[in-house]
Amino acid sequence: MILVVGGAGYIGSHFVEELIYEKEVIVLDNLSTGHRQFVHEKAQFIEGNLGDEQLLHNIFRNYKIDAVVHFAASSLVGESIVNPLKYYENNVNATFFLLKTMLSYGVKKFIFSSTAATYGIPSVDIIKEDAPTNPINPYGKSKLIIEWMLDDFAKSYNLDYVILRYFNAAGAHINGRIGENHTPETHLLPLILEHFLGTRDSISVFGSDYPTKDGTCIRDYVHVTDLAKAHLLSLHALLENKLNREVFNLGNGSGYSVMEVISTCERVVQKKAIIQIEERRAGDPAKLVASSDKIMKLLGWRPEHDILSIIETAWKWHSSRT
Ligand code: UDP
Repeated sequence: MILVVGGAGYIGSHFVEELIYEKEVIVLDNLSTGHRQFVHEKAQFIEGNLGDEQLLHNIFRNYKIDAVVHFAASSLVGESIVNPLKYYENNVNATFFLLKTMLSYGVKKFIFSSTAATYGIPSVDIIKEDAPTNPINPYGKSKLIIEWMLDDFAKSYNLDYVILRYFNAAGAHINGRIGENHTPETHLLPLILEHFLGTRDSISVFGSDYPTKDGTCIRDYVHVTDLAKAHLLSLHALLENKLNREVFNLGNGSGYSVMEVISTCERVVQKKAIIQIEERRAGDPAKLVASSDKIMKLLGWRPEHDILSIIETAWKWHSSRT
């Protein structure tokens, strides 16, 4: 049985959608940002917090958990700068407690959602896993602290882990049942699509004076189902003891500027966007593009969706909800 913490959230629910065909799944989620209707009907659902000691003990006592896949986190860079307490509590504390409890029950396989934000402002064009980590905001720091914790626990308690550093997760499941839905929404692609659906008057572009081809930030957008499949491959490898301590970047390997994302959306939706150029957003590096060669080589992962397919699936989901 696999425990998926945060399985009602955006990426967690897409992972469960893949996993459910091969394993029994328990989803633990406090629904603070997740959605009850995103939980697959075949998964067992427990609503609760990682900080609930009794609940965690009950789960590990009552079920034979083979591995834990941990998606639950606070994940907004801007919010982490305003309210770092929340990030140290929800990310560092909560994960510490989860790890402590699972280890006390002898559960030693763990997959962790980390982030490109652990690299800070990279000094290379395409980021590999061995690039220096130097996070510039509490969100990235909270994730890196957990990575360090995992490494220490691996050395001392034989914990086997896979850390997946996501670049920009985007898109929606092709079945149209689940997609990206945050409140408040802060991510570029859903904001653009909401503008096309008429719920936002315009699109804000944060900064047009970056040292990039058109002055706007470049990001590496990777489809959420491709991310989900990377978790599945990592889980197989952990359960089959094919690897035990790995960090993988997950991206498509191509960068798109904010303006390029907007113009590709215009093409998909066949409408013209109203754009407002604004100040830079605090904590945004100019360019983040992944090398995912390592997971491709070691686990045979291949992202199947390009930027067009990411936008098409996201548009299908967004437009079907109104
Ligand atoms: N962005 C923007 N306008 C928005 C939201 C985001 O210009 O309304 C930019 C943001 O500055 C970044 C990129 O779009 O360069 C992706 O931002 P998002 O918040 O989607 O993801 P992040 O890169 O922060 O994980």
